[in-house]
Amino acid sequence: MQTQLATAPPDIQRATDDAVTIEGLVKHYPDPQGGTFAAVDGLDLTVRRGEILGILGPNGAGKTTTLEIIEGLTPADAGTVRVLGLDPFTEPNEVQKRIGIQLQSSTYFEFLRLGELLDLFGRLYPTRLDPDELLARVGLEGKKRALVGELSGGQAQRFAVVAALVNDPEVVFLDEPTTGLDPQARRNLWDVIASLADDGRTVILTTHYMEEAETLADRVAVIDHGRIAAVDTPSRLMDRFGSGTTIRFTTDSPIDPLSLVDLPGVLGATDTGSGEATYILDVDAPDLAVPALFMWAGERSIAINDLAIHRPTLEDVFLNITGRSLRD
Ligand code: ATP
Repeated sequence: MQTQLATAPPDIQRATDDAVTIEGLVKHYPDPQGGTFAAVDGLDLTVRRGEILGILGPNGAGKTTTLEIIEGLTPADAGTVRVLGLDPFTEPNEVQKRIGIQLQSSTYFEFLRLGELLDLFGRLYPTRLDPDELLARVGLEGKKRALVGELSGGQAQRFAVVAALVNDPEVVFLDEPTTGLDPQARRNLWDVIASLADDGRTVILTTHYMEEAETLADRVAVIDHGRIAAVDTPSRLMDRFGSGTTIRFTTDSPIDPLSLVDLPGVLGATDTGSGEATYILDVDAPDLAVPALFMWAGERSIAINDLAIHRPTLEDVFLNITGRSLRD
C-alpha cells in the first residue's frame, strides 16, 4: 500500500524547493598524532525535494560524518546546514519530526517484537504510520510477532529502513542500507527505496555499490577527503568523467588498426600490444561501429573473436575523479 505523505503545518513550512542545503561545512576530529584533521573540509551540497541523492566515497571520505551533521546528531565546527529550511541545531525538534534516519548499524530492544518496536517508535512522534502497513510495505507482514534477532540479514535491513519511516518523514537518510546483503536481498531493498521517492519523499543514501547508485540515484555526489568532488546525474557524470566507450576485439590474423579509423562511429584504433592480434576501438556510436567492423572484416576474410563493448561506468568516473577505486 502506498503511503500518503503528511504535509507540514503552515507554521513550520518555510518556502524552499530544496530539502537540504549545506554550505562550507567543516568538522574536525582528533588524529592519532595528537593534532586534528578535517573529516569534512568545506563541503557544499544541495539536495532537491523529491530526489534520491546517492553519496559515493571511499572509506573515511566523510560520508557518515556529513549525514550525522545534517541529521543534527553531530555539531559542525563551521558552515551552515538547512533541512527543509530549518536549522537542525537550533530547531532540532521540528527537524526530527520531519526526517527519518536509518543508521549504518541499528540496535533495537531485543525483547520487543517488530510490531511493538514500530508502535513504540511511532509514539515518539505527532504523526505516525500504522505498523501493519509499514511491515507490509517491506514484505514483513508475516513477521509482526518476530524478534529482530530472528530475522535474516535482508529482513533486518528492510526492517531498519521501515523503522525510519514511522513518522512519515519527508526526508529519509539511509547509510549504506544494503551493505552485506546478497544480490537478491539488495534488489528487494532497492524496490523499497525507489518506492520512497514515489511517495514524494527525498532520499539521501550513502553506498559503496556503483550499481546501487546508478539504479536508484537521480544525482550522485562523489565525496573525497571531506569535500564534494563532483555532483550530477549518473549519465552526466559518465559523460563528463567517464573514459568513453571502447570496443575490444581479437582477429584470427594481425591487422593494421589505422585502417579502421575511418569506419562509422570510430574515433581511434590501437593495437593492445599483447602480441595476440587484440585491438581497441574508441567509439562514439557503437551501434554503427560494430556492424561496420564486421563488414570490414568480412570483406577481407578476417574472423573477429571475443568482441566486447565497454561503456563508461560510475566506477570509471570515481576512479577518474579521485584516482582511487571505491574499495581501496
Ligand atoms: P565509511 O565508508 O567507512 O563509512 P565515511 O565516508 O562514512 O566512511 P566517516 O565515518 O565520516 O567516513 O569518517 C571520516 C573520517 O573521520 C575517518 O577518518 C574517521 O576515522 C574519522 N572519524 C569519524 N568519526 C570520528 C569520531 N567520532 N572521532 C574521531 N574520528 C572520527
